[in-house]
Amino acid sequence: MTGATAYDLRTLLRPSAAALEPYDPAFSPARINLSANENTFGLPEGVRSRVAEALAGAVTNRYPKPLSDELRAEIAAWHGVAPERVIVGNGGDELLFNLFLALGGRGRRLVTCPPTFTVYKLYAELVETEVVEVARDPETFEVDVDALADAASTATLTIACSPNNPTGTLFSPADVRRICEATPGIVLVDEAYIEFAREGASAEPLLDECPNLAVLRTFSKAFGLAGARVGYLIGPEELASALAAVRQPYSVNVFSQAAALEVCRARDEFVETIEKIRAERERLATALAGLPGVRVWPSDANFLLVRLPGAQKVRERLRDEHSILVRDLSAAPDTRDCLRISVGTKEENDIVIEAMSILIREGDAR
Ligand SMILES: *Cc1c(COP(=O)(O)O)cnc(C)c1O
Repeated sequence: MTGATAYDLRTLLRPSAAALEPYDPAFSPARINLSANENTFGLPEGVRSRVAEALAGAVTNRYPKPLSDELRAEIAAWHGVAPERVIVGNGGDELLFNLFLALGGRGRRLVTCPPTFTVYKLYAELVETEVVEVARDPETFEVDVDALADAASTATLTIACSPNNPTGTLFSPADVRRICEATPGIVLVDEAYIEFAREGASAEPLLDECPNLAVLRTFSKAFGLAGARVGYLIGPEELASALAAVRQPYSVNVFSQAAALEVCRARDEFVETIEKIRAERERLATALAGLPGVRVWPSDANFLLVRLPGAQKVRERLRDEHSILVRDLSAAPDTRDCLRISVGTKEENDIVIEAMSILIREGDAR
């Protein structure tokens, strides 16, 4: 250790970073993973081979296009907006992070409606942004839109997750318009799961009407590309430019751009799987709700929020005895005794229903 000066990393770290733990999705090898809301069907056959061809042709000795030009143009044409209003990111997560880099900081305020995606608060706190939480109704998880509009009136950024992770509930376009009108800040509607929602649920049609509205989408959920890490945001051009300015220039690599471009062109070929997942969601919900002591909330996403006695234990036994992974949310007060179960294929869901009914019947007998 000669010459080295003793140092204490904790004193060097920015306090907001020192307070964090690395993100752990609690994955373990399992036969069935229904813990991360992925599309467990994978890519449709024809799409998979076109993606493979595109990957084989990707140019790897040159840096990628910083703004994913071709993909951006395809997304813009799909949504009927100018490409300048679209920004592509290394997953929706990167765009959320960049949003906080650009808009967050001391003296600035984020408004959210917990229980919701925990990443918002994590990034906000990292950049020392005040977080104002407008709690949902503990029983129905509905949002008090008056209270939200009130809180948003002093916010820099308000995030409405719709369908909301983990409750599966929506913000109606009318509610979104109301929030946009109430705030001097940006309103982000996180639509990571919108493809699974009922008709007319998206805030997208409001983009032209509400100049402070942005919509976040991802290829990770309905479009089966969680591993490729591609998401995008559509919003006012000034916001897209600000996000382009703070981002790492080459964060979306050539493989990811190529895969997402193929999937984007093939988006209509996903309709069948999305329909299957929606139908399976209803079947799974009905089956689980029929088990004693189990409550299932209606969901517009590809997952169900389920409350049951001894949720944590049931989650462990699903993993250890049935090799099924689901997400345990039971430690958080607003989702006490809750698990979040992604909707899988028919075969996967059958196994979940069978395993849950065994564990719950055994729990009853104890
Ligand atoms: C999954 C998810 C995202 C984005 O995921 P990426 O894989 O980073 O694109 C964004 N918001 C919510 C609520 C999600 O559940």
